Amino acid sequence: MTEGKENVPQEATVANPISTDPLCRLETSSTFPEKPKEKFIPHIRWPDLIAQVYIHVGLLYGVYLMLTSAKLATSLFAIATIYTSGFGITAGVHRLWSHRAYKAKWPLRLILVFLFTITGQKHVYAWALDHRVHHKYSETDADPHDARRGFLFSHVGWLVLTPHPDVVAKRAAVDMSDLEADPIVMWQKRLYPILFFLLTICLPVSIPVYFWNETLWNSYWINFNTRFGTTLNIAFCVNSIAHMWGQKPFDRYISPVENASVSIAALGEGWHNYHHVFPWDYRTSELGSKFNPSTVFIDFFAKIGWAYDLKYASNKMIENRARKTGDGSEILSSSVNCTDKDDADDLQPPKAEKFE
Ligand SMILES: [Zn+2]
Ligand SMILES: [Zn+2]
Repeated sequence: MTEGKENVPQEATVANPISTDPLCRLETSSTFPEKPKEKFIPHIRWPDLIAQVYIHVGLLYGVYLMLTSAKLATSLFAIATIYTSGFGITAGVHRLWSHRAYKAKWPLRLILVFLFTITGQKHVYAWALDHRVHHKYSETDADPHDARRGFLFSHVGWLVLTPHPDVVAKRAAVDMSDLEADPIVMWQKRLYPILFFLLTICLPVSIPVYFWNETLWNSYWINFNTRFGTTLNIAFCVNSIAHMWGQKPFDRYISPVENASVSIAALGEGWHNYHHVFPWDYRTSELGSKFNPSTVFIDFFAKIGWAYDLKYASNKMIENRARKTGDGSEILSSSVNCTDKDDADDLQPPKAEKFE
């Protein structure tokens, strides 16, 4: 019978490291009890669970209204808003603020924070904090959406359960001084509840009502719940599907994968094996040549000078890494001629301290 044994602290026997007497080393024991590592049992955070149930039930009801009574323009507007505001996540809170993969002048940061707030995915500071912890402690207890705990947990469960103590500890330890020095980020953090009300709810819901006389009822369910819930689920897929099903051309020892479906839905964010290997690369895929509208978006703003210091891995680095740790699946860089931009000889490996 081992019943109750788990709760009894075990006495640790520690040899006296200084003594040269073997008997002394054997018999000197510490009386300090070794604290048993308690098994973490998460609890449901009921307000968050109720919010997720409300969003998802409303999402389905909104789809029903799209098919039965809403005007076509209202549905098209919801889809257009999902994809336009998505750049606030991909090019904004992800590549710019979480990874510092490029720099942006204030007008672009303002556009990105505006688009990101429409998506309703918390404020930039909270999102980037969790994402930095995710990359640094991927697939450990400290990973906020640790994919080892299954599809449901990494998809949405982590948002409705109490976090593992390691997550709490690592969140507190992450350096966020760069975001704390960005007035646009801190302004959005401070005003987030009112900005959520205005930009996540009022703005998208009121446009169809004002411009093409959609009913407020239809517009609310479609342009708040369906739109908001769809964007959430697309982002969730990067944490769940893109950590489970796909190829690993750059590192077969980690769980993130290349998943084309997630990339199509998430504006190029599904090339996740590459991204976890080169998180500081603004393209999040080799050469940026795979389907990646967010890279096109950043390139456009680089052309007009609002985005600068774009960081990317050289062909040589990519090929070397694929050869060393990849699963053997084909990568684009080996079959594409180098351009000026891609020529490995012109690129110095980035200094690591810049991109942590
Ligand atoms: Zn990931
Ligand atoms: Zn990332």
